[in-house]
Amino acid sequence: MSTQHLEVLTTSPSPRVMILGSEGQLGSELTAALSTRYGAAQVLATDLVQKHKGDHGFEILNATDAEAVDAAIARFKPDHVYHLVAVLSATGEKDPERSWAINMDSLLGVLSACRKHGVGRVYWPSSIAAFGPRTPQNPAPQLPYMDPTTVYGISKLAGELWAQYACDKWGMDVRSLRYPGLISYKTPPGGGTTDYAVDIFYHAAENKPYSCFLAENTRLPMMYMDDAVRATIELMEADPERIKERTSYNLNAIDFTPAELAAAIQSRVSGFEVTYAPDARQAIAESWPQTIDDSAARSDWGWKHEFGLDELVDAMLAGLKK
Ligand code: NAD
Repeated sequence: MSTQHLEVLTTSPSPRVMILGSEGQLGSELTAALSTRYGAAQVLATDLVQKHKGDHGFEILNATDAEAVDAAIARFKPDHVYHLVAVLSATGEKDPERSWAINMDSLLGVLSACRKHGVGRVYWPSSIAAFGPRTPQNPAPQLPYMDPTTVYGISKLAGELWAQYACDKWGMDVRSLRYPGLISYKTPPGGGTTDYAVDIFYHAAENKPYSCFLAENTRLPMMYMDDAVRATIELMEADPERIKERTSYNLNAIDFTPAELAAAIQSRVSGFEVTYAPDARQAIAESWPQTIDDSAARSDWGWKHEFGLDELVDAMLAGLKK
């Protein structure tokens, strides 16, 4: 995978890293990559339930339990904390108050505990969901007007400002990326608006027809998981003086519509049928940008994506076949 393309580790000794939300779509692959890179003994994975076995440590930890988070950080003494817990966009709309509580209580608890115990670096992801209908859509700039329409997006925008606050007022080193839709085959996605771009591959791999919940011409920014994992590690390993955006960096790779993705799959899987039946997620998708300008990430700390549409489709189909 492309995380192998990371340069040889130069920081010595390897940091001790703790992950909250390690069992999700992103966490499962990021935890495996961190364990390979820094050594399993340096890694503590935490979540509500363990779904993936590894040589690294694992503890059950409810990220909204501030006392338990504080105690775990005091015990493990991580140099870097990756806080990935969130209720995602589509699931979040089913119970906005609960989603807000999980997303924000956990972030404040993690920031406070990391501040108290002097954790060197904290990673917390934002999302294209932090943008809104009045954000320029093509592309969304690094610092646009942001008016998110989902409770998930509101929590991401508020979280970005908390990240900046923790840096400015508490002298912390908090780093963040605004991920586009993440596409992977190892762990199912967690209830986001871009999940169609994963579901479609599961259907194609079994040659079952797919009914897409977004309209065929809905363009959204997307990224293959290997690029997202590598971006996250590269951001966390960058020298502090290269990190100039302390809310969150726009991160971009490719953008496509469901019809374009379907055509790319159909050119490899003959007879694969796709129909379109947009549901409530269509309105969320239409409030998000079609592309994002990530020139700040590229110039500040050297971000460069590797997977275009063809590479992504090939990797997904090969991975699911295995
Ligand atoms: P996911 O839903 O797949 O995983 C979230 C994990 O958090 C799950 O394993 C879940 O068990 C865990 N969790 C939920 N509540 C918890 C709690 N109270 N305590 C401890 N663990 C809890 O999500 P993901 O796709 O892996 O996303 C990870 C992060 O990346 C999130 O912050 C998300 O907003 C962000 N992000 C993801 C995408 C994407 O396309 N997947 C895009 C943009 C941003």
